[in-house]
Amino acid sequence: MKTAKVAVLGAGVSGLIAALELEAKGFHPVLIEASDRVGGRLRSDQHEDFALDHGFQVLLTHYPELKRYQLLSALQLKAFRPGALIFEDQDPHRIGDAFRDRSFLRSTVFSSVASLRDKITLLREQRRLAQTRPEAIFAQTKEQTTLDYLSERYSDRFIELFFKPFYSGIFLETALSTSYKHFEFVFHHFAVGKAALVVDGIQRLPELLTSRLTHTEIRLNNAFDSSEIEKYDALVQTYPNAAAPADYNGCINCYFEIESADKGLLKQLETTIGLIPHSDYVNNLHVLSAGDRQLLSATVVGQVEMGHAEIEGAVRQELLERILKRRHCVSLIDYLS
Ligand SMILES: Cc1cc2nc3c(=O)[nH]c(=O)nc-3n(C[C@H](O)[C@H](O)[C@H](O)COP(=O)(O)OP(=O)(O)OC[C@H]3O[C@@H](n4cnc5c(N)ncnc54)[C@H](O)[C@@H]3O)c2cc1C
Repeated sequence: MKTAKVAVLGAGVSGLIAALELEAKGFHPVLIEASDRVGGRLRSDQHEDFALDHGFQVLLTHYPELKRYQLLSALQLKAFRPGALIFEDQDPHRIGDAFRDRSFLRSTVFSSVASLRDKITLLREQRRLAQTRPEAIFAQTKEQTTLDYLSERYSDRFIELFFKPFYSGIFLETALSTSYKHFEFVFHHFAVGKAALVVDGIQRLPELLTSRLTHTEIRLNNAFDSSEIEKYDALVQTYPNAAAPADYNGCINCYFEIESADKGLLKQLETTIGLIPHSDYVNNLHVLSAGDRQLLSATVVGQVEMGHAEIEGAVRQELLERILKRRHCVSLIDYLS
């Protein structure tokens, strides 16, 4: 055992991995966390039979760290189909990667969401980015926003109906001003792996890492401050020094119990991510099921100034108008941000 006193600050996934690595090198670190639980931004709450994630948290199964820390085999995952249901007006458009899921073939070939040129470009880009290593993506010197990058390649219609809602849900910003390198990085992972939900909630992942710590003392509800620096030989800090800016990317997730609904549509949304283009509130949606109960998860992207009741009403209204077409009852069961 190494006797140096090492503290890891923050018990998000970075802090947990840092503690595991320190243990592997023979240290017995102290893991100091300000909040009342481990996991940081990977957070879920249990509501009856449902694990409700804070935010739409998908795990991209090709992340090398999942393999490296043997997490994939230890988590129960539910993969989405490689495509999307786009709610433009009446019936949703269903588009996707027909090479990986034949059920998308017909609807994608005949879809009016993208032009023939868009579809060919998408296929070519998918091949190219599947073969490009993430290191090479981030080594590129050119700087450009994702929106400018997409505009050079695809039609406005395809960008508005597919890329904007899909990537807004990932970048948590609707202007797609995030660097195209992040777009290529995520696209690479979608091209080579799957996007999956952790069935018992994303928080299972940090809990799993915590269960593997055998020589770490975890102190929750313990915000570290600089007066404590002298107590340790070394510190590993996993959160930024400055507080997040007020316009920091964020999202709100609303979960609705569906009382009477189009079973076919809900079934599709269990396996395929739904997108609402040109939306005032909801960016993406999917359905969770437990027994014969289903919950619709709707994500609103961005910093929303509205109160809980107001956002609930706005999201409910939009879902009824755009998705459920007033044929069904929805009742809000929980609200998370
Ligand atoms: C809504 C949402 C959806 C997301 N979806 C995805 C997704 O689908 N796929 C994906 O790969 N990633 C996703 N992410 C990103 C992912 O959650 C983060 O990249 C990852 O969790 C960051 O982990 P971290 O440990 O670096 O930071 P954090 O999780 O932020 O952990 C930092 C920890 O430090 C603690 N802390 C702060 N100050 C102090 C202090 N003074 N003393 C002690 N402790 C302190 C905090 O309480 C926190 O627990 C999403 C993020 C959000 C918010």
